[in-house]
Amino acid sequence: GNQARLMAISDIVNRQPMSVEMPKPLSRIWATDVFNMATMEEVLSKNAFKAMKKTVQTGAALAPATADVVAAAMKDWALSKGVKFFSHIFYPMTNATAEKHDGFIITNSDGGAITEFTGSLLIKGEPDGSSFPNGSLRMTNAARGYTAWDPTSPAYIMHTDNGATLMIPSVFMSWTGEALDKKIPLLRSNAAMNKAGQKVLALMGEAEIATLNSSCGAEQEYFLVDAALASARPDLMLAGRTLFGAPSAKGQEFDDHYFGAIPERVQVFMQDFEDKLYRLGIPAKTHHNEVAPGQFEIAPYFEAANVASDHQQLLMTLMKLTARQHGFMCLLHEKPFAGVNGSGKHVNWSVGNATQGNLLDPGDTPDKNLNFLLFCGAVIRGVHVYGPLLRAAIASAANDHRLGANEAPPAILSVYLGDQLEKLFMDIKDGAISETVNGGLMDLGLDQILKFERDPGDRNRTSPFAFTGNRFEFRAVGSSQSVSGPLVAMNTMLADSLTWIATKLEAALETTSDKTEAVVIVLKELMALHSNVIFGGDGYSSEWHTMAVEERGLKNIPTTADALPAFLDQTVIDLFDSTGVLTPVELKSRYEVYAEQYVLSIEVESKLVVNMAKTMIFPAAVSYLSDLTDAIGGAAELSITLDSSVATAVGENINGMMAAVAKLETAMATHDFASTEEHMKFCADTVCGLMLEVRGFADTLETLVADDVWPLPKYSEMLFMR
Ligand code: ADP
Ligand code: MG
Repeated sequence: GNQARLMAISDIVNRQPMSVEMPKPLSRIWATDVFNMATMEEVLSKNAFKAMKKTVQTGAALAPATADVVAAAMKDWALSKGVKFFSHIFYPMTNATAEKHDGFIITNSDGGAITEFTGSLLIKGEPDGSSFPNGSLRMTNAARGYTAWDPTSPAYIMHTDNGATLMIPSVFMSWTGEALDKKIPLLRSNAAMNKAGQKVLALMGEAEIATLNSSCGAEQEYFLVDAALASARPDLMLAGRTLFGAPSAKGQEFDDHYFGAIPERVQVFMQDFEDKLYRLGIPAKTHHNEVAPGQFEIAPYFEAANVASDHQQLLMTLMKLTARQHGFMCLLHEKPFAGVNGSGKHVNWSVGNATQGNLLDPGDTPDKNLNFLLFCGAVIRGVHVYGPLLRAAIASAANDHRLGANEAPPAILSVYLGDQLEKLFMDIKDGAISETVNGGLMDLGLDQILKFERDPGDRNRTSPFAFTGNRFEFRAVGSSQSVSGPLVAMNTMLADSLTWIATKLEAALETTSDKTEAVVIVLKELMALHSNVIFGGDGYSSEWHTMAVEERGLKNIPTTADALPAFLDQTVIDLFDSTGVLTPVELKSRYEVYAEQYVLSIEVESKLVVNMAKTMIFPAAVSYLSDLTDAIGGAAELSITLDSSVATAVGENINGMMAAVAKLETAMATHDFASTEEHMKFCADTVCGLMLEVRGFADTLETLVADDVWPLPKYSEMLFMR
């Protein structure tokens, strides 16, 4: 109870930053624990290395004999670094990372121990598939699941308190070959995008076209709370967010935290954490404070989407681990604290290849960059046609607290292009390409400040899907989410749009041999159909919410219960089926898994609300009320009428809270829903509201009950003490 809270506070006051080693030069630690191309070039034969390189760059098949050679080299490399275990690491349909560890050791008939690691052990593992959600893809008795090595994402060594393990990035499938993970669809979506992109580039007359790949750079926001305080909050421990808590007297209103000086204990944490990332070849590049007190951001440099996605998962794991070592709890939840900003994960995304470069880079003269115009147009069409899919791809109980709450992008998917490109595309809609004007030189009239070229457009932080110079930034993704889902949705919608464009372009090129003319014909039609999705104004405003829905025909999808059924939509089923990214059965299973996760997380939260209200808040409030009434009675004996307004308010709020708890318990006992959809709706419309009702009374009690008997660490303590 309050003991834990008060002890935590006294602990923190005396805390020192953890002592860590002096930072090593980057050149000495960079990727030392990664079996990357540089390592392979050293330890593999020339032929084996060439084969691996081809697989990594183009996705070409690897011969089994080569896999044997790679396995042997990988084992020797790992053993030389003191590793005794290996693990196929994979990414089930939840946002988690899963691993099963096996020893390199086997015993021979003489009882001696030898190490063994063959190509077949590298290629395939067999975890018990039944312990992972599969969305009725299989009966529980059909448990067989396979993991298979993904040679396009480098193996690495993970150091934990339990020793070092060779981690082998893998895909995860059922015995019947259905994708049970987030990596298989990502790889397939890349392939689909490549195939469609090749067609468009070939029609544009490109002589040589290398394999197209998508890139991802993810900006990760997070909170750090002192571990002693966090452990006195069952809601933070079990649900990752506070289900109770009155606002702190000071919040984020001074805007003084963003980009401010980083507190010392946090600086030490960041340095330690980033050194770990560097050893694993994760290019951590920027870090800074975020808007809310106690909130920070880290953004690694972008990489190929598949590798970036694996690295993002690893980053989240390491972040929580390192925070623990520094006496913090790292909160990746989208909305840990009511009333202060939540956390997102901006997914920066582009597509390109070695021959044409980044196809979303307009260059200095976008009006002459026809490939760019086509790919950018394809994105515009994709977001318009598949907006509800993008919304579904980022739907979760936690992210619902952010989206549309005037601090995060709205739950309406629109595209921000910036002034220059918006004008260019609107002109194309009218049938003409006009010359673009650049931002010009920034001149402050101060000779000592060097002049620089201004960006052609400003930024718009209210847009969920913004063009940011040479990439799109999907800003509605939640901080705890895997980036794979959003990347799959983006790559797949792009594949579909590029296929649409290829068909139209082929027809246009039959009527004219002028490429510019043909591109204008195609994009004019595209804009006539899809320009409604382009919006450069304030996405937070109520005018936009009305205009988007009523005039533009866009959808406002506030909750996960409203969003997830997009996976059951025929256009979405056809999209995934035609691109070969997910079969209808695989898609359906994802709907079921995500819906179940939604319902489960709200169930956990409602149980916590009932439990904490009854066993922590009620006892504290009652004992304080009894102190008050004793005092009022005692004072009356002395003929003093003590002010009883607080006692009355405490009593009323206790009763209000317990009545709300009873209503919540009744709601939680409701079963027999006609469909998963009905169940989700009930959670969104009824259960969430009742949890808030309980919270309302409890938070009022927090402002009335004496501070020294209040059991839960307060917002001011969690947000400001470190
Ligand atoms: P900001 O906060 O201004 O949006 P950051 O520097 O924090 O920018 O993050 C931008 C992210 O976008 C980084 O991860 C960066 O590497 C990534 N990025 C840059 N160019 C591309 C690109 N072409 N494709 C994908 N990601 C990119
Ligand atoms: Mg950004």
